[in-house]
Formats: sequence, C-alpha cells, structure tokens
Amino acid sequence: MKISFNRLDRLYQKDSEKYLKACQEVLESGWYILGKNLKAFEENFARYCGCKYCVGVANGTDALILSFKALGIGQGDEVIVPSNTYIATVMGITKNMATPIFVEPDEFYNIDADKIEEAITANTKAICVVHLYGQVANMTKINELAKKYNLKIVEDCAQAHGASLNGIKTGNFGDLGCFSFYPTKNLGAFGDAGAVVCNDEYLYKELVSLRNYGSSKTYYFDQVGFNSRLDELQAALLNIRLEMLDDFILERRKIAKKYLQGIKNPKIELPKLAFDIDGHVYHLFVVKTKERDKLIDYLKSHDIETKIHYPQPPHLSKAYKYLNYDEKDFPICLEYANTCLSLPFYNGMSDDEIDYIIEVLNRF
Ligand SMILES: *Cc1c(COP(=O)(O)O)cnc(C)c1O
Repeated sequence: MKISFNRLDRLYQKDSEKYLKACQEVLESGWYILGKNLKAFEENFARYCGCKYCVGVANGTDALILSFKALGIGQGDEVIVPSNTYIATVMGITKNMATPIFVEPDEFYNIDADKIEEAITANTKAICVVHLYGQVANMTKINELAKKYNLKIVEDCAQAHGASLNGIKTGNFGDLGCFSFYPTKNLGAFGDAGAVVCNDEYLYKELVSLRNYGSSKTYYFDQVGFNSRLDELQAALLNIRLEMLDDFILERRKIAKKYLQGIKNPKIELPKLAFDIDGHVYHLFVVKTKERDKLIDYLKSHDIETKIHYPQPPHLSKAYKYLNYDEKDFPICLEYANTCLSLPFYNGMSDDEIDYIIEVLNRF
C-alpha cells in the first residue's frame, strides 16, 4: 500500500460535479473579482466563525500583513509571536517593519503563555497567537495579559478554522483573525485565498480599503494599499466547501483518535491535548521522535510519506539573519524542529490506510 502525505484529489472527486457547476456559473457570469460570490462567502464565513465581519484577501500571508497594517503597527513597534510557527506569521509583522519578539512553545506546540509577560516591553503593541496544528492556544491567559498591558491580539488561524475553546471559535479571541485557504488547509480553495474576520467596524472598513489599493470609493485613494482580493472563482468553490467544513473536522478528529489510540511505540511521542478534543481540528498530526531520520527512512521503505512542520524555526532562517539570533536562543523550539514529524493526515483517508500506518509505526 502506497500512502501519500496528502490526497487533495480525493476531496475533489467526492464532490466534483458541485465544483464544476460552480465554476461554470462564475465563468459564464462575466464577473470575476469582488462580486456576489465573494460577498456570500464573506457573510457565510463570518457567520461560521461567529464574527460580525469577514474580508476576503488573496492569501493567509496577506491576511496577516493587512491586519498589522490596519492596527497601525509599524516601525519601532514590537509584536510578541511564537518561535514555533510557520514563517508567514512572522512575515506579517516584519513586512510592516515591526519587530517580532519570539516566545518559546509549550508542550502543546503553541506559544507558552507563561513566558509572554517577560517578553513585554514599553514598545510592545500586540501579541500574535497561532493556533498551531489546529489546537487553540492558551487564550484565557493570553487575553488576560493583553488586557493588563493594553495589547492588541492578532490570531493566525491558518491551521485552525472552526477550532474552539469554551465554545468560542478562533477569530474571536482577539482584534483580528487571519485565515488561509491554501489548498491543504482544513478549509482549502483550489488556489490561493485568505480572509480576515473581526467584530470592529473601523478595522473592517480599513481592511476593505487596504485590500483594494487603499480605496473606499472607486478611483479615489485614501492610502497606499495593496491588491489582495479573493476572486469569485475561489469564493464560489469555498462556499461549497464551507458547508462541508464541520464534517471535514469530525472526520479529522476521528482519524486523530485512531492514531492516538493505536500508536503504541515508546520511541514515538504523540501530540498532547491542551483542552477538550472537541475544540481541536487537527490540521496536522505531529509526533516527536529522537530517531527522526531513521523513522522517515523506515516509513519511506514501507511506502509511507511524511513531512516536517517545520525543519527550521523562523528565527534561524536566512530571511531573519538580520535579527541576529543563533542556535542557543529558544532551545525548546529548536528541539521541536529537530524531532517533530507529521504523519499522513487528510480527509478521505481509508480505515485500511490508517490501520496500515499504525501497524507499521508500532513495528518501528
Ligand atoms: C499556511 C499558513 C500561513 C500562510 O498562509 P498562505 O495562504 O499560504 O499565505 C500563515 N500562517 C500559518 C500558521 C500557516 O499555516
């Protein structure tokens, strides 16, 4: 049995006729940018998240860049951010010329809320939280700190559509919630797409302007903006997928439970639950092992593909060499980068495939 890390084709095949029909309607309509499909998706996604507003943008990275810009965060400002994240989170901060202040992860791979306070200075303007791998960060504590120090919160929800804590969905814990609909995300488009959700009318209007050249009235420009829009074709396809999102999440949780119950190997450390499993949307299933290279090769020899999310933390990347960090900084984050491994995990995985992976892992 050959098992790929992901199988987006399966998700497409299951409902191919719906997608093709939606595409045909958009193509025949003659209206491709900022139209009724986007408006419908923005309304639907805002409702899904339990937020007042949603602004579709070109991708998740832009969602972050536009969010910090809308909050007026720039040169001289510091933003607290997990050291253990995908680099796009950090780019959202540095593209605005602000300075990222990294904080070590906790045992759940998310930012360690107990280490945030010591990173706050007079220049701190915001905390950027990431709900990594689909699990909500420790928002109770983080919201308390934000209130105490009067800080903005930007949520990077790119891996956590529909994830929740105490009945509150991601996108509602802070000022702005940033989403990516990159094809592999839990809610994935058929190309690039993203969105920002919020409950504040000023921020909403600012984002609507920023994504469209800084214009709020056609051909009149209030500020230097971006061209960052979610097109009609992707919006129409996302509208179809949004209706299925809760089913996707239930299926992911079921696969995760099978892995959690089935994998029994002292050499493999399973991901830990910080809260109730019903709030976790399992974007990725990430284990840790001290024998990672061996395990990768072993799985490959059994036709099982794995990936590493992520092999190099942002602060050690060439892109952020100018921040002058080295391997002695953030040792927990580095340990994760050196030991984590993502198992095949996708909607449409068969029981046979899951059982095979578990059986092979237990023989390692
Ligand atoms: C995917 C992802 C992004 C970037 O989204 P794009 O749509 O690829 O630009 C940002 N942050 C995290 C945590 C992500 O997983």
